[in-house]
Amino acid sequence: MQRIALFGGTFDPIHNGHLHSALELAQQYHLARVHMVPCYQPVHRVAPQLTAEQRFQMLQLACQPHSVLHADDRELRRQGPSYSIDTLQSLRDEYGDDAQLNLVMGADAFAQFDRWHRSDDFLDLANIVVMWRAGELPPNLAASDYSNAIKSHDDAIQCSRGALTSVQLTPWEISSTQIRASLAAGESVVQYLPEAVSKFVAEQQLYR
Ligand code: ATP
Repeated sequence: MQRIALFGGTFDPIHNGHLHSALELAQQYHLARVHMVPCYQPVHRVAPQLTAEQRFQMLQLACQPHSVLHADDRELRRQGPSYSIDTLQSLRDEYGDDAQLNLVMGADAFAQFDRWHRSDDFLDLANIVVMWRAGELPPNLAASDYSNAIKSHDDAIQCSRGALTSVQLTPWEISSTQIRASLAAGESVVQYLPEAVSKFVAEQQLYR
């Protein structure tokens, strides 16, 4: 079975936490490809600081050295509000019925998941994999509306869709918010960003 993941985000900017989590996940789930998809117009948060094109350029630079990661601009091409259900549907159309599709999200995002547009339809299209970091409390999947879909990692990995599971990843204490604040204060962020992204941010004088 071909295994694919959708790792969406604002990526304002993409940082090492995103990148290393996506790579670790690819290994644990035997993924053929992780689609790294920047949102065009976020639905659940304030507008990003940089344009979608700038965020996508950084994503391309970050993904370029890693063949399993694919910088995917489908939400930019679609424009309008970036609903994840539409993105999953377009991946399902592209890969067909037999592929395993995994929607990856942080525990923070999953806590709000029941408010997402068409949240009841996601498991018809994909598995949901909730990432959490060692040292944090594990996400309480059993308290969600989707508790009857909970599966262990070993069972979820056999499902093309319909499984709800969680995965523990190495913690990276970084956020884009912190990086933007550090750059605005003139502080160095080189240790938090992929090298090519760091160079791009410096050259373009972003987030100053
Ligand atoms: P912001 O600080 O602007 O909210 P962010 O750093 O949380 O940004 P997003 O683009 O909102 O980044 O996140 C995209 C996805 O990456 C989400 O599913 C989020 O849970 C996850 N993520 C964010 N930071 C990390 C990190 N340090 N390690 C692993 N995953 C992360």
